[in-house]
Amino acid sequence: MRIGAHVRDESDPIGFGEKLGAEVVQLFVVDPQSWDKPQPHPRAAEILASPIDVVVHSSYQINVASLNNRLRMPSRNAVAQQAKAAADLGAFGLVVHGGHVRSDAELDTGIDNWRKLFERQQDKGGFAVPILIENTAGGNHAMARHFDSIARLWDAVGDYGAGFCLDTCHAWAGGEELVGVVERIKAITGRIDLVHLNSS
Ligand SMILES: [Zn+2]
Repeated sequence: MRIGAHVRDESDPIGFGEKLGAEVVQLFVVDPQSWDKPQPHPRAAEILASPIDVVVHSSYQINVASLNNRLRMPSRNAVAQQAKAAADLGAFGLVVHGGHVRSDAELDTGIDNWRKLFERQQDKGGFAVPILIENTAGGNHAMARHFDSIARLWDAVGDYGAGFCLDTCHAWAGGEELVGVVERIKAITGRIDLVHLNSS
């Protein structure tokens, strides 16, 4: 297992990683609170040449499950754009939060919106890097909080090659027992691509 950290200095991710002795670094490709379009990273060549692996965390605004078109459509675009920017840095994946809907009655549609994200992108040749869906803790109607909802989500997106990012803090705060958590998730997803040992 490669060990690393989220960079504190986006302008010099490899310098940050080297200082820590990290084998992998995670970075944003846009201000995570924004809808900005990613720009070419000024140190892309150095990042590509470095033995330190890279993963990109997508911006926080993204909610591909949303039933609100004005949130879902820009979210879909942002995932595609940030996946492309991640590929340009040689990243092995793009972490995207499971997102949420407003009521349990909307969960099925939210799951279908996730499926459509992959289905539509497939017509364009797929995403430039694997999409790693991260479990979140917030709210009662999160798409990837309780493991039973992750199982339903996976029934819809698993065949599209979706990856998984396990956030231990989110799992704990979401009410999941941590003992055996890896086995339980892998029984659903068949894979864990990244673990966030979140210190929150
Ligand atoms: Zn996250």
